[in-house]
Amino acid sequence: MADASKRKKKRKKYLKLRKNRIWHSLVMFLIVTIAAAALLVVFIVSVLYFSVDKGITGEYETAWKMAELYRNVTDEGDRYLSFDVMDTDYYITDKNGKVVHSKGKNTCGEEGYLYAIALEGNIDEDGKLLGSPEGVSTVLHRDTEDPVLGGYEDGAIYIDYKRLVGKVFDVFYTNTGKDKTDEDVSMELPVWEEVDLGSGETLFFKAKVSFKDTNLVFFVVMFLVSGALFAILLLVMMISTISKAINQHRVNKLFFTDMQTKGHNWLWFLLRSEQTLRRITSAKKSFALIDLELAGYRRYCVCHSVDDGEARLVETNNALCAMLGKKELCAHSSEHRFALLLEYADRDALQRRIGSMLSGLGGIGAHGFAFHAGVFLIPPEERGGFLGRRKDVDIESDYNNACSARATLEDRSESAAAFFEDKLVEDQKWEATVTEMQQRALAAEEFVVYYQPKYDPRTGELRGAEALIRWQSPEHGFITPYRFIPIFEKNGFITEIDHYMIQHVARDQRRWLDMGYRCVPVSVNVSRAHFIEPDLAEQIRDMIDREGTPHSLIEIELTESAFFDDKNAMINTITKLKQYGFAVSMDDFGSGYSSLNSLKDMPLDVLKLDAEFFRGEAAGTDRGEIVVSEAIKLAKSLNMRTVAEGVEIKDQVDFLAAQGCDMIQGYYFAKPMPAQDYEERMKNGRAEGAET
Ligand code: C2E
Ligand code: CA
Ligand code: CA
Repeated sequence: MADASKRKKKRKKYLKLRKNRIWHSLVMFLIVTIAAAALLVVFIVSVLYFSVDKGITGEYETAWKMAELYRNVTDEGDRYLSFDVMDTDYYITDKNGKVVHSKGKNTCGEEGYLYAIALEGNIDEDGKLLGSPEGVSTVLHRDTEDPVLGGYEDGAIYIDYKRLVGKVFDVFYTNTGKDKTDEDVSMELPVWEEVDLGSGETLFFKAKVSFKDTNLVFFVVMFLVSGALFAILLLVMMISTISKAINQHRVNKLFFTDMQTKGHNWLWFLLRSEQTLRRITSAKKSFALIDLELAGYRRYCVCHSVDDGEARLVETNNALCAMLGKKELCAHSSEHRFALLLEYADRDALQRRIGSMLSGLGGIGAHGFAFHAGVFLIPPEERGGFLGRRKDVDIESDYNNACSARATLEDRSESAAAFFEDKLVEDQKWEATVTEMQQRALAAEEFVVYYQPKYDPRTGELRGAEALIRWQSPEHGFITPYRFIPIFEKNGFITEIDHYMIQHVARDQRRWLDMGYRCVPVSVNVSRAHFIEPDLAEQIRDMIDREGTPHSLIEIELTESAFFDDKNAMINTITKLKQYGFAVSMDDFGSGYSSLNSLKDMPLDVLKLDAEFFRGEAAGTDRGEIVVSEAIKLAKSLNMRTVAEGVEIKDQVDFLAAQGCDMIQGYYFAKPMPAQDYEERMKNGRAEGAET
C-alpha cells in the first residue's frame, strides 16, 4: 500500500513536470516567430504603402489643380502651360479617346500603369478630396489662413492657382525635408494618373512618385534593425527551447529509469501503456497485461547474494525486452516482478507465446527460481456496438488483476502462467468484505461453536468431539469455515479466532461439568500462525484456567502444514502443552507429504487420519486399506491414539473398528452440530443405533 501511494506521488510529480513539455515551448516558439515575422512584414508594407500613397495623392492633387486652371484658361497657347509647369510627360484625349495634345513619351500601359482617381466634384472648397476615392487615403489641406492662396467668397472658390501649384510643390518637397531638385531622387515609380478635364477631355500624366536616397536608407536601416531584433528574439527562444529539451530528457531519464535493471520502471510502463491503449483502436489490436514474478527470488538472494539476485533481474529484463514486439512494453514493476504489455490475436496463441517466453527465461538463475505469470486480457471497448478507442484505461487496476491471477500460482514450484478470471474479483471482494466485518463480528459474538462428536467404532461410545467454527452473520447468513478461515489465516485474524474458540470451548465444558454432563475431551484447531509466539502454551493454559476447565477436557489440533515452520519452536510448544496436561493431535495426517517425518520428532498424542483416506480413489481398495491399517499400527507403536475423519459409510466404520482405530469423526455418526444438540449427544453418551 505504501508502495502504491509512493508511486502515485511520483507519478503526480512527473505529470506536473511534464506540463512544461517541450512541445509547449515549440508551439510558443512558432507562434512568436510567425507573429513577429507578420508584424515586421505589416510594418514594412505599411510604411511603403504610406509613402507611395502619399506620393500618388500629392501628384493627383497637383494635377487636379492644374485641371481647374486648364478649364479656366481660354487662351489656346496658355492652355497647356499649367501642365508644362508640372514638368512631366502627359497627354490629353478628347471625348472620342483621340489624343489632342501630348508632351514627352506616352509609356502608360508599357512601363507603367494607370492610376485612376476621383472625378471632378470630389474635392471640396478647401481643395480637400471628399470621401475616400480608391487608392487615395491622404490629401493635402489648403492653408485657408493664407490670403495669398485664395479663399471662399459668395459660394464660389477663389484660388490663385499659379501660386497654389507652387505651394503644392513646396509642401511636397518640404514634407520630405528636401529642395525641389531632383538630384537625390534614386527611384521613380512608373505610375500614370488620370484626371477628368471636363467636356469629354481626359488628362493622363506620368506621376512623379519617387523614393529618395534618404527614404531608402531609412527603409534599409528600419529593415536591418527590425531584422536584427527579430533574429535576437529567435535566438533567445531557440536557446530556451533547446535547454528545455535537454532538461526534459534528463527528467525523463530520472523518472523513467529503473535503478536496479537500468531498463524502464513502473511509472514509464504506466504512462506508455496508457498512451498505447488510448491510441490504438481496440478493434485492431488486443492487449494483455502480464505480471511476471521471479518466484523464490528472495531465497535465491539468501543462498547466493543480493548482487547476484540483482544481476538476474537485469538478465531477466534484457531477455524480456528482446522478446517484445514493436508496440509491446516491459518494465521492472517492483522488487522481483516485471510488468508486460503484450499484443495478441487469440487467447490460445497468447498462452503458447507466454509458455515459450517462460521457457526462454528458464536458463536464468540456473533454475534457482521459477517464473510465474499472471495474465489479464484487457477487454475491448465497445460503444454503441462498435469497437472504439479505449477511453477508460486503468492500467493500475488491470495490473492488479494480473497480479491476482499470478498470486494463484504461489504454491507452484515450477514456472507457470495463470489467466485472470472473473471469479477472482468475486473472491477478492469477498476477502475485503470478510476483512472489513471480522472485528465487529468477533465483538458481536457472531462466531458460533459447533461440535462434531467422535465415537468409538467398536462400542459406539462418545469419546470426544471437535470444535468447529461457524459464522452466523446478520448480513450474509450462515457461513462455513471454508469461506473465511483461509482469509483469516492470510490476514492474521486467525489468532484471535483461535483464542475465541479455546475460550468458548473451555467455557462450555466448564458449564457442562457444572450441569453434571459426562464431558469428553473436545479438540480445538490451532492455526500455524500461532507458533511464532513462544508463550503459546502458556497463553492457552491461562485462557483455559480462567474458565476453570480441567486441562484433560481440552485437546489441541495442529494441522500438518503447521509442522514445517520452526521445528524446534513446535516441539517446544507441544512439549509444554503436554506438560500442562493437554492432549495434542496432528490433524489431517496423510494429506501432506512429510507426515512421517513430523511424526518422528513430535511428541503427539493423537493422529487424525485425513478424510481423503476414505474419499480418494484408493478408498475401499486393498491398497487403500493397507495404508490405513498400517497408519493405525504406526500410531499405536508410537503410543498414539487414532481418529478417522470424514467416515460416511458403515463398511468403513467396520473396517476401522477391526483395525483398532480408536475414534471416528464423520457424518456416519454425526455432523458438526450446535451446542444444544451436542448436549443431547452427551446425555446419550452413545451413538444412536450403535451396537453395544
Ligand atoms: P478440519 O479441521 O479438517 O475439520 C474437519 C472438517 O471435515 C469439518 O469441516 C467437518 O465438518 C468435515 N467433516 C467431518 N466429517 C465429515 C464427513 O463424514 N464427510 C464430510 N464431507 N465432511 C466431514 P468444517 O467444519 O467445514 O471445517 C473445515 C475446516 O475449517 C476445518 O477442517 C479446519 O481446517 C477449519 N476450521 C474449522 N473450524 C476452525 C477453527 O475453529 N479454527 C481453525 N483454525 N480452523 C477451523
Ligand atoms: Ca481439525
Ligand atoms: Ca481434519
